[in-house]
Amino acid sequence: STGADFVVVANRLPVDLERLDDGTERWKHSPGGLVTALEPFLRARRGAWVGWPGVADIDVDPFDDGDLHLHPVPMSGSELRQYYEGFSNATLWPLYHDVVAPPVFDRSWWDAYQRVNQRFAEAAAEVSAEGATVWIQDYQLQLVPAMLRELRPDLRIGFFLHIPFPPVELFMQLPWRTEIVRGLLGADLVGFHRPGGAQNFLWLARRLGGFEPSRGQVGVRSRPGVVQVGDRTVRVGAFPISIASSELDQLARTKEVQQRAKEIRVELGNPRRIVLGVDRLDYTKGIDVRINALHELLAEERISVEEVAMIQVATPSRERVEHYKQMREHIEREVGRINGEFGRVGHPAVHYLHTSVDKKELAAFYCAADVMVVTPVRDGMNLVCKEYVACRNDLGGALVLSEFAGSAAELTSAFLVNPHNLDGVKDSLLAALDVEEAEGRRRMRALRRQVLTHDVDRWARSFLEALGAPFAD
Ligand code: UDP
Repeated sequence: STGADFVVVANRLPVDLERLDDGTERWKHSPGGLVTALEPFLRARRGAWVGWPGVADIDVDPFDDGDLHLHPVPMSGSELRQYYEGFSNATLWPLYHDVVAPPVFDRSWWDAYQRVNQRFAEAAAEVSAEGATVWIQDYQLQLVPAMLRELRPDLRIGFFLHIPFPPVELFMQLPWRTEIVRGLLGADLVGFHRPGGAQNFLWLARRLGGFEPSRGQVGVRSRPGVVQVGDRTVRVGAFPISIASSELDQLARTKEVQQRAKEIRVELGNPRRIVLGVDRLDYTKGIDVRINALHELLAEERISVEEVAMIQVATPSRERVEHYKQMREHIEREVGRINGEFGRVGHPAVHYLHTSVDKKELAAFYCAADVMVVTPVRDGMNLVCKEYVACRNDLGGALVLSEFAGSAAELTSAFLVNPHNLDGVKDSLLAALDVEEAEGRRRMRALRRQVLTHDVDRWARSFLEALGAPFAD
């Protein structure tokens, strides 16, 4: 058959179908980091992308977008609620993020998760050429590797998890832990951000993995980085994802972005210091942590609203999931409180933007900010901190970063904080606000060296190389 030699399978396609008011539909590009990273590989190989088109209850035929073949996977409204909002985002997401929120275990969600994963596996089987390389992405699709292997044993299958993989004792809470582990073991390579995640998975694979659907019980052995499932070898490793560093560095150098950064400072009334937070409105991000820190620093008169202006971009996210609604109300109440208590006319304590900002405007925010605060209680990687660093070719700016972000392992020259230790966060925020110029430049230079030499292209290549894909370089 024809079919693609390189296939990416992800919950979403790299384009979204938009329904306009007049009832017509059109495709809109959604260039996330993953798309930017993989598109060159895919186009050069006339690859295919399998994913949901972003609208429920429609059936769209596969189509070509230049050299890229797009294969939409349909989903009903109730599947969207049960597989995506339910099992993915109200069961797996909190469980994998150290149960920061209580995970919900619902059997009908699990049924939908299996059903939708099977549909993705069938779509991938359909578009893949003999011996093709298939790269499956993220926590929504953890059953696809084994399901796809059942359908197409000829394929080379990789899986990458973009969120943390939890400690063993938390994962063991999952009623469907065995099915998930066996789903992942269908891959030839299972990738995580951090070595700790890989370690946890190796332990679980040894404990739960001894079964292949077509052969029944098989022996499982493991050694560092490898699980042996019967006669099949599954490699396990850490591949920290990154950003298109030099592209962003270039964008930040443009006149347009530099000009806009100056405007932002003026619009804020030229404060001595600007503090910036940029996050999806998610309970893992610790937005409340930094607002609390700011609140106490203002109350103790260690800073003032005339001197320090804070911008918090809070991108709307998962608004139909109950815990997200509660969290949004909590954050917005706290923002209201701090502004009511400490704000002056023309000087709110926090400029709160519940919106999504485009790349250029975001680059301007990064360039304008003296301190970027990133305080998640758990984050697989966290890219906004890397983006901030990539934008600061002036070696200005300081980064306050949670130890519980995957990126902390690489960005060791940041002001690292434990987000649960409010006094520590306050001290680090003050230290970053007042860092001596030479010290600030030394730190930023070190951060930039890491981010510019470890970009998303390097991430994709190293994963594909470990997978043994014939076109890794
Ligand atoms: N982002 C954006 N506009 C916004 C907020 C965020 O484009 O208003 C982008 C940001 O540039 C980054 C991504 O969204 O590339 C967020 O990635 P991150 O890993 O920090 O967090 P996630 O949302 O994936 O948990």
